[in-house]
Amino acid sequence: MSYVEEIYNKTVRENPGEKEFHQAVKEVLDSLKLVIDANETQYRETALLERLVEPERIISFRVPWVDDKGRARINKGYRLQFNNAIGPYKGGLRFHPSVNQGILKFLGFEQTFKNSLTGLPIGGGKGGSDFDPKGKSDHEIMVFCQSFMTELYKHIGADQDVPAGDIGVGGRELGFMYGQYKRLTGLYEGVLTGKGLTYGGSLVRTQATGYGLVYILEEMLKSHGISLEGKTAIVSGSGNVAIYTVEKAQQLGATVVAMSDSNGYIYDKDGIKLDIVKEIKEIRRGRIKEYADVVPGSVYTEGKGIWSVPCDIALPCATQNELNLEDAKTLKANGCIAVAEGANMPSDMEATEFFLDNGMLFMPGKAANAGGVATSALEMSQNSLRMSWTFEEVDEKLHDIMKGIYTKVADAAKRYGVSGNYVAGANIASFEKIANAMMAQGFV
Ligand code: GLU
Repeated sequence: MSYVEEIYNKTVRENPGEKEFHQAVKEVLDSLKLVIDANETQYRETALLERLVEPERIISFRVPWVDDKGRARINKGYRLQFNNAIGPYKGGLRFHPSVNQGILKFLGFEQTFKNSLTGLPIGGGKGGSDFDPKGKSDHEIMVFCQSFMTELYKHIGADQDVPAGDIGVGGRELGFMYGQYKRLTGLYEGVLTGKGLTYGGSLVRTQATGYGLVYILEEMLKSHGISLEGKTAIVSGSGNVAIYTVEKAQQLGATVVAMSDSNGYIYDKDGIKLDIVKEIKEIRRGRIKEYADVVPGSVYTEGKGIWSVPCDIALPCATQNELNLEDAKTLKANGCIAVAEGANMPSDMEATEFFLDNGMLFMPGKAANAGGVATSALEMSQNSLRMSWTFEEVDEKLHDIMKGIYTKVADAAKRYGVSGNYVAGANIASFEKIANAMMAQGFV
């Protein structure tokens, strides 16, 4: 049995029921086979793959809090410190009822590779809670965040582990958590990223994942002689990543005709009016169907059908496994030429294989959505320097980083004889750096 197969089987055996984690490991190991076969003895001797798939530390804790009716409530809280070979653990916190250890293992594993691709000194981590922010008052959110941080603060630090946002965790939640961290430790340090602009946050961090996604999409299209201008795009989701993906895609001349949330999707043939989406989602924290109530000519459809909307470019920006084989076939049949992932692992394995086998341009999340965490690393730099850079400075750095990622990914694919396979390219390029750093630091 090959080393890669052995490790995949061991992962499945030792992490029962954690299917998203198995999926993430399989996708990476399959595309690393050539690299690993070529260096098998060295990697086996240092148990490199065994170490790569085993989180360095899993912290899990109880989060007690009291709701507005005075009732005692309990949630599960976690932080997974996956790999710190190339820098302090770095990655978001997700608050969503679907959060469990398996989901966080998949996210932490992906994060390790993504962070390596940015070229910046950040390791991989992830955390969160099964707490559902939907329908909670600001006061309940604050009480929950304070309780969550009362345990988490023991395990994090600016040079140790630097959490940020993810699904269900944005500026409001990070603010409450930062306030509590400071109160518990007395430290005013860059321990969280995605902070507000008045207390150490970085300009462009809010926009970064979406902008970065469109920057790398543009590079990928350009290298195939295609322009984004005039193209029709659909963007699933309507959270932070989706909103700033639409903003940048529109700035660069694309028409975005559909967006969604977990209940359904809106279609606006004239192009989404983003100021209305922002008002609904960022200010009122409402649902996407409200868009159709205020924009004449737009249509709201209940359910998951967004991938049936004809488009040139599909940008899944909602959540894992939101796009399956049937969806991939529908996209292709409707003339879609390119897919870039704003969410983490939104295309399932069969959909990914379909894109690769059918000549579609496909940029996987760990490269395509790395702009968010890359800008988090820029926030860490500014905090350490006790400086803040202008919007233009940060945006330019983000743009350069995304171009750099595209080049690294495309070159790695070419080097291993799979030109245009950006899944393989992303996995190989990020693995090379992590493997190198791990081996240089001895058996730890
Ligand atoms: N949650 C984001 C991600 O999946 C950002 C993480 C960060 O900024 O640390 O990459």
